[in-house]
Amino acid sequence: MKPDKPRSREPVLVNGIAYRWPERPIVVVCIDGGDPAYLRQGVEEGCIPNIASFMQRGFSTIADGTVPSFTCPNNMSIITGAPASMHGISGNYYLDTATGRAVVMTDPELLRGDTLLARFAHAGAKVASVTAKDKLRKQLGKDLAIARGNINFSSEKADRCTIEENGIDDVLGLVGMPLPDMYSAELSLFVLEAGIKILERERPDLIYLSLTDYIQHKYAPNEPEAMRFYCDIDEKIGRLAGLGALVALTADHGMNDKSRADGSPNVIWLQDILDKEFGQGDTKVICPITDYFVAHHGALGGFVRVWCRGKATAADVIRVVKTLNGVESVLDKPTVCELYDLPPDREGDVAVIAATNVCIGAAEADHDLSGLNGFRLRSHGGVSEAKVPFILSQPLNDEYRRKAGAAMLKSYQIFDFAINGTAE
Ligand SMILES: [Zn+2]
Repeated sequence: MKPDKPRSREPVLVNGIAYRWPERPIVVVCIDGGDPAYLRQGVEEGCIPNIASFMQRGFSTIADGTVPSFTCPNNMSIITGAPASMHGISGNYYLDTATGRAVVMTDPELLRGDTLLARFAHAGAKVASVTAKDKLRKQLGKDLAIARGNINFSSEKADRCTIEENGIDDVLGLVGMPLPDMYSAELSLFVLEAGIKILERERPDLIYLSLTDYIQHKYAPNEPEAMRFYCDIDEKIGRLAGLGALVALTADHGMNDKSRADGSPNVIWLQDILDKEFGQGDTKVICPITDYFVAHHGALGGFVRVWCRGKATAADVIRVVKTLNGVESVLDKPTVCELYDLPPDREGDVAVIAATNVCIGAAEADHDLSGLNGFRLRSHGGVSEAKVPFILSQPLNDEYRRKAGAAMLKSYQIFDFAINGTAE
C-alpha cells in the first residue's frame, strides 16, 4: 500500500527536534538489557564482527539512558526523542492516588505527545515498528497510520497479525521462522529477521526494532549462551547494514548481577520494613518493573516508589530507608523528578534506588522467585544500569561530531544522531 499523499522532503518536527528526511532507510535497534559489558565481551571474543566494525568505522559511545532504567520508559524516550517528563511513561506501573490502585503504564493514552514514528508516517514516510513483547506494541504504534501502509507488530503475537491491525499479515511466512516462545532468544531474533525481510520487501524510511532481555536476565556476558545470542544478533545486524540501511544500536538499560555469593537473590524487602516501622497499609511500595513477563526477574528491580498513604511522611520514610544497607539513594518527589527528568504526577512520594548488586522488592510474600529456577538474579532499574551503548554504522558529520564531543549523549538522541548526524 502506498502513502496517500506525496512524500514530503521537509524536515519533520517532533518534540522540539527537526529531523531531516532520511536519504536511506534508518534502522534503530534497541537491544533490551544490552549492557555495554556484553558488547565489550563480544568484541574481545571476536564474535560480533559487524557491530565491532560499526564501533570502529562508524560512531560508538556510551550514553545515559532514562532512569528508572526499565524497558517502557526507555523505549518511549527513544521513539519520542524526549525525556520521561515529556512523554509521561516513567515505569511499567504507577499508583493512581485517586483510586489507590496500581495502574499499568502500557496504555497508549498514557503516552503524552507524539512519537517520531507517527510524525514521520503522517508526513508520508513509510514506517515499521517490530517489538518482541506485545506489551510495548500499542505505545510504539500510537497514532501510526496503519491504513496508510505502516507496520506495527510483536514477535510474541506474530501469528495473529492482520492488515487492519498491524499493516501486515502472514508474518510467519515472510520471516520464515516458527512462532517463538515468550521466554527465548528467538523472540528477539525473530524481530531482527522480520526487520530484514520488511527492509528487503518494502524498504521503509524508518524501522524501529525492539528486542527482549530474557537472555541478559539469565546469563552474564562471560557465559557462552550470552555470546551465542550476541553472535546471532550480529549476523542479522550485518544483513540489515548490507541492505543499505543506516543501522543504529542502543539499549533500554543495562543489567547487573543482584545475587549474594551463595547465589541467593540480594533483596531489600522494603514493604515489609516500612510495614514494621509504620504499620500495614500506611505506605505503598510499587515496583515499576512489574509486568506479566516476570518469571526471569520475579518483579525485582533496582528502583521502587513509595506512596505515603497514612501518617508517615516522605521525610519519615527517607529517615528509615537511609539506614538500610544496599540503598544507593533515597529521594523525595521533587528531587527525583528534577534529577532524572520525570513526570511528577506519576511519581511516588519517595523514590528508592538500589546499589549495583542489590534489588528492592515490596513484600517478600508478594514476589514469586520460583521462575529463577536456580539461576542467579540479574536485573536492572537503578542508576547503575542506566549506561547504554550508542552505536551508528556510519561516521558522524562535523556538526554532530561536535555535539557528541561536547556532552554525554542521551540514548533518546539515537534517532536524531542516526537521521541528522549522518546526513551530509
Ligand atoms: Zn528492558
